[in-house]
Amino acid sequence: MDARLEAVRDTVLARNPGEAEFHQAVVEVFESLGPVHDRHPEFLEAAILERLCEPERQIIFRVPWTDDSGRVQINRGFRVEFNSALGPYKGGLRFHPSVYLGIVKFLGFEQIFKNALTGMPIGGGKGGSDFDPRGRSDAEVMRFCQSFMTELYRHIGEYTDVPAGDIGVGGREIGYLFGQYKRITNRYESGVLTGKGISWGGSLVRPEATGFGTVIFTEEMLKTRGSSFDGQRVVVSGSGNVAINAIAKAQALGANVVACSDSSGYIVDEAGIDVGLLRQVKEVERGRLKDYVLRRSGVAYVEAGSVWDVDATVALPCATQNELDGGAAARLVRNGLVAVGEGANMPSTRDAVAVFQEAGVLFGPGKAANAGGVATSALEMQQNASRDSWSFEHTEQRLTDIMVGIHHRCAATADEYGDPGNYVLGANIGGFVKVADAMLAQGLI
Ligand code: NDP
Repeated sequence: MDARLEAVRDTVLARNPGEAEFHQAVVEVFESLGPVHDRHPEFLEAAILERLCEPERQIIFRVPWTDDSGRVQINRGFRVEFNSALGPYKGGLRFHPSVYLGIVKFLGFEQIFKNALTGMPIGGGKGGSDFDPRGRSDAEVMRFCQSFMTELYRHIGEYTDVPAGDIGVGGREIGYLFGQYKRITNRYESGVLTGKGISWGGSLVRPEATGFGTVIFTEEMLKTRGSSFDGQRVVVSGSGNVAINAIAKAQALGANVVACSDSSGYIVDEAGIDVGLLRQVKEVERGRLKDYVLRRSGVAYVEAGSVWDVDATVALPCATQNELDGGAAARLVRNGLVAVGEGANMPSTRDAVAVFQEAGVLFGPGKAANAGGVATSALEMQQNASRDSWSFEHTEQRLTDIMVGIHHRCAATADEYGDPGNYVLGANIGGFVKVADAMLAQGLI
């Protein structure tokens, strides 16, 4: 790493002890930025990096609620408003027991660059809670969401901060959150949350956008080598929103998607995953992957284990951070992997990224490859602002154009900085320069 940046990195790490995921995200970005500071000494003079690593605002709050048996439960809520140089803070809410400040900060930090890469006027933020919606009734989820919003409402707004979904937060949760916001504020402020239902201000394609976008980005990478998804053998991790829609899109482009996972195990379906059945089990019945196996013959279920033990030519990690380590990466490479598109945020460890890059595997980092979700959230905000709703075809075309544009921006930036094909470098520098320019222009704030 560039010596000038090392000192800044050490300060950031010391100031944020015990936040391993945030450290990882910061170090990865810093490793790309040496050449930018050679060209732009003004960024160092204005302490852009120090400011970028310090969130503009961090909110932590108590979320009290009662479960179905009448017992009081206490969770912790977070919203980190990281950077508003390009627009209102924008980024999802995650409900998962592993959530703590370090996770929210890593996600919020990544979000700054991702949102900049989309070319849309949105800043970076993220939030969530250590609440676990799994196994909770609809009524419990509603009471939790109402309590969460009873504090959060005062910090958000269509021109201030616009949350959306992430792990554990889908259409159901956004509905309860929006209802409570409307009730407290007495405002039908559609643009305050994205991922809403289609009949009340949501956008077509938003549910599909992150998974579709990841596949579109990966297809663009494959095209640079004269290849495509057609005929690829694909393995996907996760079986939530991003994973299911990535599977659907990859299959539509001619791939055979043979495996996916949840936190209990993975399935191998050599005939190709039946997306209709997967949606029924996971989205309608809120069941487990085990239930898929009971309804379809010829499918193997592997309890525990890693889905990355299954051979693939294209890997789409779509579950969670640090789920694909160096050992798994080496195994995939040995068995013929040609491309990785990260649908999740930071799913590959730093060791895994190094293995992919050394082996010449096409590697699309999450902050570029999964930006289709937030980009389509920005399209939802556009529709809300103009009291309009667009067709599926029009919105999908906009998503496709945006993803092709992000790919182009990352590739062109990597070329410009002398490391063709390095999408990590391209995404980090491409996002950073845009935000840094805006921060310089807006003065010391
Ligand atoms: P969902 O909650 O819909 O699905 C998450 C999936 O990942 C589930 O299959 C879940 O399994 C699995 N999973 C979660 N945590 C773990 C874990 N610790 N170990 C193993 N498996 C795990 O979330 P999304 O699909 O929305 O999000 C997936 C990833 O995509 C996240 O990294 C998120 O930040 C990222 N992302 C999401 C966007 C969106 O628009 N939703 C936008 C951009 C990025 P189980 O059901 O067993 O918990």
